[in-house]
Amino acid sequence: TYVIAEPCIDVLDRACVDECPVDCIYEGGRALYIQPDECVDCGACEPVCPVEAIAYEDDVPEALRPFIADNAQFFAEP
Ligand code: SF4
Repeated sequence: TYVIAEPCIDVLDRACVDECPVDCIYEGGRALYIQPDECVDCGACEPVCPVEAIAYEDDVPEALRPFIADNAQFFAEP
C-alpha cells in the first residue's frame, strides 16, 4: 500500500484525491489517509503531491515509518 506521511499535515492539498482511481484517500483531521485495504498500488497519487508526502510503504524514509502504522490505525475498528 501507499502511505501518506508527515508532510501532509496541515497541508491537505488533495491533488491525490482526484488522481486515485479507487477513491481510497480519506480526509481525517489534519491530514489525508490512504485506506490500505482499498489501495491498489497504482502509484498515481505519488507524483501529484506538491509536498511529496506519499510513498510506497517500503520506500517510506526511516524517520517517517511510524506513519505507516498511524495511517493503518486511522482505519482500524475501535
Ligand atoms: Fe489510490 Fe493508487 Fe494512490 Fe493507492 S496508489 S492511494 S490506489 S492513487
